[in-house]
Amino acid sequence: MPNAQSIIAIAVGYPNKLKDAPASKRGARRGIFARASWGIDYHSLLRNRLNLLEAFIKERVPEAECLSMVDTGVLSDRSVAERAGLGYSAKNGFVLNENLGTWTYLGEMLVNLPFEPDTPVVDSCYDCTICIDKCPTGALVGNGQLDSKKCISFLTQTKGMIADEYRYKIGNRLYGCDTCQQVCPKNKGINVLQDDIQLEPEILKPLLRPLLTISNKDFKSTYGHLAGSWRGKKPIQRNAILALAHFKDDTAIEDLKHVAINDVRIEIKATAYWAIGQIMGDAEKGFLMNRYEIESDELVKEEILKGLEVN
Ligand code: SF4
Ligand code: SF4
Repeated sequence: MPNAQSIIAIAVGYPNKLKDAPASKRGARRGIFARASWGIDYHSLLRNRLNLLEAFIKERVPEAECLSMVDTGVLSDRSVAERAGLGYSAKNGFVLNENLGTWTYLGEMLVNLPFEPDTPVVDSCYDCTICIDKCPTGALVGNGQLDSKKCISFLTQTKGMIADEYRYKIGNRLYGCDTCQQVCPKNKGINVLQDDIQLEPEILKPLLRPLLTISNKDFKSTYGHLAGSWRGKKPIQRNAILALAHFKDDTAIEDLKHVAINDVRIEIKATAYWAIGQIMGDAEKGFLMNRYEIESDELVKEEILKGLEVN
């Protein structure tokens, strides 16, 4: 947009507390979607806000030209928000706003009107390093820099096998990771509600076992509106299997066996065999040895062997 004269940056707060969240208990273990994925997809939410802003501007200046952007990669949302004084780049990698904390969606709009620039805010993490110390995988390397390959948020969105060293660290996270925001003292006491963010506890903290065999149609109708579903059901199902292993949920063994034997997707099958070994150890060695003889895929066999090594 060659005639752009200003960038308007917006930050919209989102909730981080789930009222009446169902308990995760033995026989009914649950996973969790990251908070940025709660409610309607944030792309739509931000677009709706930016559309309102655009209408507001055009009502006053009919010849105004506006170009809204949400997560397009054309501009760095974070840098723009920082320059606009919406917050500073905190050590956990998020833009930290004084009132909203780091629980914000960021968007921006180019306009052909001159606006007075706001002043950037000063970094106030000071010598705090809580988020860096509490990150389960050591993905935060300081000064807000992130080693994305180690970050659980990134790992949960991949489609392949999760490296052994991260399998337990993912815990019960189905999509994303909120740890470095949850532990931040600056986020304490902040919980912004929005009318258009519906909190659905049964969907945002779902039972794990039904996810293992959910159909494409049911996945779409139940989870399709969440930003966390953008990679489809496979990563979520793989993460659900890892979560069952994390909980050592022996009530899920029959479901895991069903997936291991019948699912045609190699990563899902292999992860299910691994989980059976982790949960049951010696008790399912016979099953695993038998399946080792039957299965032909090398990756699957490798994960069965790992299961046979567990006592
Ligand atoms: S999202 Fe999770 S894994 Fe990623 S940097 Fe934050 S705490 Fe670490
Ligand atoms: S936990 Fe501490 S270092 Fe990390 S973002 Fe919050 S204030 Fe900054």
